[in-house]
Amino acid sequence: MAAKIIDGRVFAAGILAEVTAEVSAIRAARGRVPGLAVVLVGEDPASQVYVRNKARTTKESGMESFEYRLDVGTSEAALLSLIAELNDDPRVDGILVQLPLPKHIDSARVLDAISPDKDVDGFHVLNAGRLATGLPGLVPCTPLGCLLMLKHELGDLSGLRAVVLGRSNIVGKPMAALLLAESCTVTIAHSRTRDLEAVCREADILVAAVGRPEMVRGSWVKPGATVIDVGINRVPGDAGKTKLVGDVAFAEAADVAGRITPVPGGVGPMTIACLLRNTLAAAKLAKIKA
Ligand code: NDP
Repeated sequence: MAAKIIDGRVFAAGILAEVTAEVSAIRAARGRVPGLAVVLVGEDPASQVYVRNKARTTKESGMESFEYRLDVGTSEAALLSLIAELNDDPRVDGILVQLPLPKHIDSARVLDAISPDKDVDGFHVLNAGRLATGLPGLVPCTPLGCLLMLKHELGDLSGLRAVVLGRSNIVGKPMAALLLAESCTVTIAHSRTRDLEAVCREADILVAAVGRPEMVRGSWVKPGATVIDVGINRVPGDAGKTKLVGDVAFAEAADVAGRITPVPGGVGPMTIACLLRNTLAAAKLAKIKA
């Protein structure tokens, strides 16, 4: 294996330590700590794990965690009414609605009902617009985590060729916007892209966010490139168990790349760390506006 493994767990622990120290300082100065509200509708098993982990890490950082677990049959009106309450609650600095929502609820309407200043997932159309136009705002946690790792590993990204595989609103598009803001030359690839392998092989930075287990092969990677694997895919493992793999065939790619993130232990831990970083940023913004 040639590549250096980028350890997201270690990196995330560093961010969480900084957040925890700042939370202590805010407690001392204001007599209250930042608060994060997480709303889960229904009982999707993966979402339950994510929400549990987010709440646990929030408490570990010293912030207040407000959890709302709503029945799968909850109406859109009831959910919007809860969000309106949370928007007005001064103890709540960040609001996160866990996706996916049940089909009878319009996700876009719900996300846009969250106050943009408390939108710690960065999915509100106003924050998406701010990112696209280069204005400061809350940035989606997963791409932000990827960018922090890239800057830490590579320093100045200016002029590098970046390929983002995937064009979702929550990962691919904001990732591309962040890399463009760092003056990378950015290509966004997707399911209609022709000659995907050749496009990927041009990348100094390759970010894979497609949700297809091990789709990116070693032969798609430019020698020495930095590969960030966002994918989380559960596939059959040994002895009837399942295991997690990314969107990149790790062993093959690690033979060619200069640096690579593993799955698990790469982007995943950074996403939660960035959620708390965003909550802290929202709490500071609330103080400035108070
Ligand atoms: P989406 O399903 O919303 O988007 C997937 C994207 O991949 C689409 O743009 C799609 O193209 C593209 N795509 C799918 N198949 C192919 C293909 N064969 N060739 C080229 N492009 C393809 O997924 P998300 O962006 O939400 O998530 C992507 C992955 O990242 C998933 O595995 C998800 O679990 C993981 N994830 C991990 C997080 C973490 O914390 N580590 C957080 C969020 C997501 P098109 O638009 O043309 O359909």
